[in-house]
Amino acid sequence: MKEFYDVLIVGGGPAGCGCALSLHESNLQVAIVDKESFPRDKVCGDAIPGPTFKVMDKINKNWGVALRNFADKEDVKTSRAFVPNGQSFSIHWKEYSYNSKRIHFDNFLMQLVRKETNTDLLEGKRLKELEMNSDFVLCKFSDGSICKVGMVIGADGANSVVKRYVEHDNKTNENSCAAVRAYVEGVSGLQEGTNEFYYLKNYLPGYLWIFPLKDGAANIGFGMEMKKTKSVNLREMFLKIIQEEPIISSRFKNAKIVGEVKGFGLPMFSKKRKISGQRVLLCGDAASLIDPLMGHGIDKAFTSGYLAAKQIELCFKNNDFSLEYAALYDQSVYNAVGSELKRSKQLVQLINKSPFVINLFAKLAQNKKVFNWLVKVAKI
Ligand SMILES: Cc1cc2nc3c(=O)[nH]c(=O)nc-3n(C[C@H](O)[C@H](O)[C@H](O)COP(=O)(O)OP(=O)(O)OC[C@H]3O[C@@H](n4cnc5c(N)ncnc54)[C@H](O)[C@@H]3O)c2cc1C
Repeated sequence: MKEFYDVLIVGGGPAGCGCALSLHESNLQVAIVDKESFPRDKVCGDAIPGPTFKVMDKINKNWGVALRNFADKEDVKTSRAFVPNGQSFSIHWKEYSYNSKRIHFDNFLMQLVRKETNTDLLEGKRLKELEMNSDFVLCKFSDGSICKVGMVIGADGANSVVKRYVEHDNKTNENSCAAVRAYVEGVSGLQEGTNEFYYLKNYLPGYLWIFPLKDGAANIGFGMEMKKTKSVNLREMFLKIIQEEPIISSRFKNAKIVGEVKGFGLPMFSKKRKISGQRVLLCGDAASLIDPLMGHGIDKAFTSGYLAAKQIELCFKNNDFSLEYAALYDQSVYNAVGSELKRSKQLVQLINKSPFVINLFAKLAQNKKVFNWLVKVAKI
């Protein structure tokens, strides 16, 4: 580690890598610090949303092609939702997307940063605290080392340390949702290219997902709002669903869970918040940018990493590291993804108020014309 960096990106997930890749032509001295060493696992559904690829195209067309051609993937064309009244409906995606285990996907991004940029990669090193100064930020690490940096990018996920310095409190992130996931082999009835979502009568407003993976296994998980999860054991609930729910249990007769059932929090978008401070920008989960309806955040993390890089370049070009100037970043993020997140939030509120609205949606969806209209109106 050097004594000084222009930019220190804390976290090497999609937000951090998106930022580092976007800075490849900036001539700034950049480092990514991550408490883990890559390849590292990340508890996730492993569904990589379409906008991620579009942002990569903007950063570099060849990297966009490389990301699409990445070997460890199962292409996804359809999402199929099963609702409490027994009906189902499918949405066919126009945008390209795939499922890929995060241990491989995130490592691919990290290797791209390593090969194609001059970013210093500081792995196995945990940021402990920041000390804000007018001319620099002093970064202190758990191993006792320190460095001075011009700007800090908080891409350190759901339990962000950096976030505390934007919100000026000592609390870690309040995750509004929690979920568990397992890798499962031998699940019968998996459909190629189709991600399945189950809204089950006794488990609303949570849902179970079944996402097929390249090797014939599946990423299967169950998530719910935090208020509910406080009194329930998500792991037990997950196992009960796959063993006992009539609509799917028969598919698990010969199935085997590989490894542990792991859980993690999801900082869902709930409202526009401050995601920048003096010499600090927050990206991805640290900025609570997960879509509250579907739970996807990789696309938002990558997009906000890209937009943070644009703001970093502006700050250095104009030598302006003020709070006011950094706030342009908030605007650019919410201009890019704010209306989509707000719409999802409204749909979640509607479902929470009256969970069986999903039944109504599925009933209407049986008519193709009405369904197409609904998808257009809800901008799904
Ligand atoms: C169960 C579950 C299922 C999900 N399913 C999907 C899905 O299918 N599709 C989707 O798009 N999204 C999904 N999400 C959300 C998605 O995982 C996140 O939105 C995404 O990982 C955010 O990326 P990020 O780069 O902001 O953070 P992360 O991917 O969490 O990366 C943060 C990095 O920061 C590092 N770090 C943390 N603290 C420190 C520190 N103090 N010092 C140094 N390094 C640090 C971590 O080691 C990590 O590598 C799911 C989430 C969960 C929990």
